Amino acid sequence: MPEQTFDVVILGGGSGGYAAALRSVQLGFSVALIEKNKLGGTCLHVGCIPTKALLHSAEIADAARDSSKYGVRSTFDGIDIAGVTAYRQEVVSSKFKGLTGLLKMRGITVVEGEGRLVAPNTVEVAGTRYTGKNVILATGSYSRTLPGLDIGGRVITSEQALELDFVPKKVAVLGGGVIGVEFSSVWKSWGADVTIIEALPHLVPNEDEAISKQFERAFRKRGINFKVGVRFQGVTQNDEGVVVTLENGETVEAELLLVAVGRGPVTQGLGYEEAGIAMDRGFVLTNERLATNVPGVYAVGDIVPGLQLAHRGFQQGIFVAEEIAGLNPVVIDDVNIPKVTYSDPEVASVGLSEAKAKEVHGADNVSSYDYNLAGNGKSHIIGTSGLIKVVRVNDGPVVGVHMIGARVGELIAEAQLVVNWDAHPEDIAPLLHAHPTQNEALGEAFLALAGKPLHAV
Ligand SMILES: Cc1cc2nc3c(=O)[nH]c(=O)nc-3n(C[C@H](O)[C@H](O)[C@H](O)COP(=O)(O)OP(=O)(O)OC[C@H]3O[C@@H](n4cnc5c(N)ncnc54)[C@H](O)[C@@H]3O)c2cc1C
Repeated sequence: MPEQTFDVVILGGGSGGYAAALRSVQLGFSVALIEKNKLGGTCLHVGCIPTKALLHSAEIADAARDSSKYGVRSTFDGIDIAGVTAYRQEVVSSKFKGLTGLLKMRGITVVEGEGRLVAPNTVEVAGTRYTGKNVILATGSYSRTLPGLDIGGRVITSEQALELDFVPKKVAVLGGGVIGVEFSSVWKSWGADVTIIEALPHLVPNEDEAISKQFERAFRKRGINFKVGVRFQGVTQNDEGVVVTLENGETVEAELLLVAVGRGPVTQGLGYEEAGIAMDRGFVLTNERLATNVPGVYAVGDIVPGLQLAHRGFQQGIFVAEEIAGLNPVVIDDVNIPKVTYSDPEVASVGLSEAKAKEVHGADNVSSYDYNLAGNGKSHIIGTSGLIKVVRVNDGPVVGVHMIGARVGELIAEAQLVVNWDAHPEDIAPLLHAHPTQNEALGEAFLALAGKPLHAV
């Protein structure tokens, strides 16, 4: 059997895998990157990028509808889904072209085909063996469903939701986490009637409770229906639509049911267990340095338990390349990874929620401050309401920042620096925020926590 050897063999060319490949060649390693589908993986083709294109189209629909508020005459005539699709595909294909060119230019050997780990240091693809001094597993994730809930027909996942060639009139969405609320937001802006079903007590349930509650108020105001704290029981479908039954006996009728209940790891049948790699419910277990229990085998991205985010995958890929090179990179702590929910409104957060901070540091040692975006000039100009909540340890650093409002995702950059650099509000207070920006709202919150609020009480 033909065999090729490399310093690093990477299985899976999504965010985690390709970042590992790019950093590895930068460090002087020879690299094989094996991908069965398209380089860029979930994020580029069916995740982050195409969904944000839909959200931008949704934002423009809302702007057209609301334009008279700003003295602009326009009318919203509806959504040209073929136009939206062409725009979305253009964005994805241009980024795909850029990525493919970059990987080629850097001298990475891209192997097209389905790989299987046949020995701890060897991946086999269509009869050729690729042996690495080190192997990085980066096979990503797929849309999960619930036991007994079959995907098909009018019951769809985010992959099919992206590809719809019509705007549904009425949709039910199972799951009020990031993916569920992003699609709900898009469909509502496009004119659909949307109902979200979430088993946990709140929408965006992983956020600080103050933010989840405000998010629910904002969705209610937009006319997005939701049922929280209630579990899904079953669904039937026919030519007309679906009927979703909940455990409390209620039913929701709709044209489609989007199942957005999380993502499972793509690890089955790939030879991981046979190679002796420790796994838990399909996820690959690693230590904090992303090494599996098998020497020379690492894992990155969505197959590693924790937050399933593209930038976590990128950073883990970079980390492992540097680890292999002996550079002793800094461990990535999930809690301080910035998170953004890109709906209308946006939610952005980093670090500990107030409740968690109290648990970790003691209830009496933690203070928080809520800055209402009503006091922020730029937020008023763009017509958004919202909140910035900052959590600190008394006489200590900022340990959490939680935000809601239009465009707050762009504010997470400063928030994550503050939290990750253990800055105290007193350190930040003398630093300026340009006026008028939404960033000022963060500045105001830090000023308040430092005991010298300017435009707030
Ligand atoms: C609708 C949606 C929206 C999202 N939005 C965001 C967002 O806004 N921001 C964000 O940070 N994250 C977002 N995510 C999550 C993000 O897409 C993932 O966290 C990220 O793609 C994980 O990267 P990965 O490299 O672990 O896996 P993937 O991107 O899934 O890549 C894995 C790759 O491995 C390949 N592969 C699998 N098995 C084999 C095999 N046997 N042989 C060869 N190749 C194989 C696959 O084809 C795939 O290309 C979103 C996800 C979805 C579904």
